[in-house]
Amino acid sequence: MMQRIEHIGIAVSNIEESIKTWETLLNTSCYKREEVASQKVDTAFFKVGESKIELLGATAPDSVIATYIEKKGQGMHHVAYEVDDIRAEMKRLKDAGFQLLQEEPTSGADNKWVAFLHPKSSNGVLVELCQTKK
Ligand code: ZN
Repeated sequence: MMQRIEHIGIAVSNIEESIKTWETLLNTSCYKREEVASQKVDTAFFKVGESKIELLGATAPDSVIATYIEKKGQGMHHVAYEVDDIRAEMKRLKDAGFQLLQEEPTSGADNKWVAFLHPKSSNGVLVELCQTKK
């Protein structure tokens, strides 16, 4: 089941600078920094009520975030939905005709299993499913 918007991912070109910007904007401190080596991405998280903001910076020129910023510039990158059973949701969406970017969930930042849907399946929005690791 889709439970809530867990976080919104924002692609940034200078994560240190952006952390300061978002700390001021949201009036809260970044509570977690984490590198996801497999994705060549550096992340920073902020809590906003029940949801979060995730800043994403590239750690290498061939990072997905570097490629994204090159094509589209900085800005909103994905919307992440918390689910209680990521494999069940992946199957449900696949059966409904959505294109998944992966067949198996992968280990993401902030203690989550994650999977992405191709944006062309969802009106140009990159959708992330995430399930908290038990
Ligand atoms: Zn995310």
